[in-house]
Amino acid sequence: MTSAQRPTTPTLIRGGWVLTSAAAASGVPAAIRDGAVLVDGDRIAAVGEYAALKAGHPDAVERGGPHDLVAPGFVNAHGHFSEGLITGIGSQYTLWEWLHKLITPVNPTMDAEKAYAGTMLQGIQLLRSGVTTANDMFCSDPDPDGPITPGVVRALDELGLRGVLAFGSGDADREFDMQPIVDEWDALREACAASSLSTFRVGIAAVGRTTPESFARSVDYARSGGHGVHIHLHEVREEVTATLQRTGRTAVGYCAAEGLFAAPTLAAHCVWVDRADRELLAEHGVGVAHNPVANAILASGVAPVAELRALGVDVGIGVDGAASNDAQDFLQAMKTAPLLARIRDLQATAMSAREAFELATIGGARALRMDDAIGSLEPGKKADLVVFDGESPTIGVVHDPYQAIVFVAGSREVKDVWVDGAPSVADFDVVNVDPAEAVARARPLAARLVAEAGLERLSAFTGAPLDGTEIP
Ligand SMILES: [Zn+2]
Repeated sequence: MTSAQRPTTPTLIRGGWVLTSAAAASGVPAAIRDGAVLVDGDRIAAVGEYAALKAGHPDAVERGGPHDLVAPGFVNAHGHFSEGLITGIGSQYTLWEWLHKLITPVNPTMDAEKAYAGTMLQGIQLLRSGVTTANDMFCSDPDPDGPITPGVVRALDELGLRGVLAFGSGDADREFDMQPIVDEWDALREACAASSLSTFRVGIAAVGRTTPESFARSVDYARSGGHGVHIHLHEVREEVTATLQRTGRTAVGYCAAEGLFAAPTLAAHCVWVDRADRELLAEHGVGVAHNPVANAILASGVAPVAELRALGVDVGIGVDGAASNDAQDFLQAMKTAPLLARIRDLQATAMSAREAFELATIGGARALRMDDAIGSLEPGKKADLVVFDGESPTIGVVHDPYQAIVFVAGSREVKDVWVDGAPSVADFDVVNVDPAEAVARARPLAARLVAEAGLERLSAFTGAPLDGTEIP
């Protein structure tokens, strides 16, 4: 675990710009020129001008530099480690075809070993793009041979990546017994309780993918245990129509009426929400994860982020799954958010770089109701932060630090990433695991998955000839 790598003496992390995402009321400026962050143990001890902090803490070890950009670690508000071994496949489908042709056959093949290997691959990419907290919903069938998701917790602990972890399994198609899902929740909850980095949430794949009985049991499990919830809501128009026909309500309306929103709820997507849906989300304090790249790949639409925020809804940014983005590069998702907003409104002012940066940091933390601990650089908060390399030709000249990070920087500029006061990325690569080993472990498991799921028509990975009808 990362506490082994946590420095025993304070560290002063310097930047030509320190962007804090701190609220005005906190007294910490939003942007500090030639600033620094003092890390002591797992916490931020101080944030301010470099010269003053250096004078007050002359013995602190220094990291960063006078031209680097220092930011809060990014909060990935939505993802699926369950898709860790099926990247770059099936992107010719819209969401419902994609669920039917790719995800449904993969679901029964998942086990703890594949979960661990897939999480390791995707976690490395998240860290390399500056993510320090991953809010994830593992979507698969339960494995009769034993719980799956403790494999996710183990991988994140080894990587040094904070997790907010849910298991969301649909039972509407198969009517399988709810008990294996509850057993998986119990196993994940216990694994998270034993981890210093991961916390548990109840996952609900979607209203339309659960029976009324299992939905009610999910609500009860969350509310009686005091757990948060992670659910997909209104990703595509078909979901809204189908739920209206089945229940007489939109999925948002159904969740509100059935008491789900009494639990802290993070709703992924919310693309097809009308005014009444948006008002319900605001009224119940539901956080929203905006997934601009996945919404574009699956042709789902453009979420009304501005309208949601105008009502006070907390919105974060997610990469979404490794099979629906398909990259896990958070910087791409953060850049695409303002691009989609600008294309939708045909206004270059529709979403600024600073607004996207704030959604990616404190916005995601608020949507998860974790903003007391993460999401901004303020004394007392967890030391989760990212350092961009100011010596890079890419961002060596900075006119506006927000635009430099959101529109210019790529993951190659991510120099250091600190999670819980310990470096998880140092000098441009992960420090706790060997990426080559992670790839070597994943390849045979991905081949086995393709065979077990019968995906040869979509995948040339195992040497099968490509089927022209399935692969464009
Ligand atoms: Zn998703």
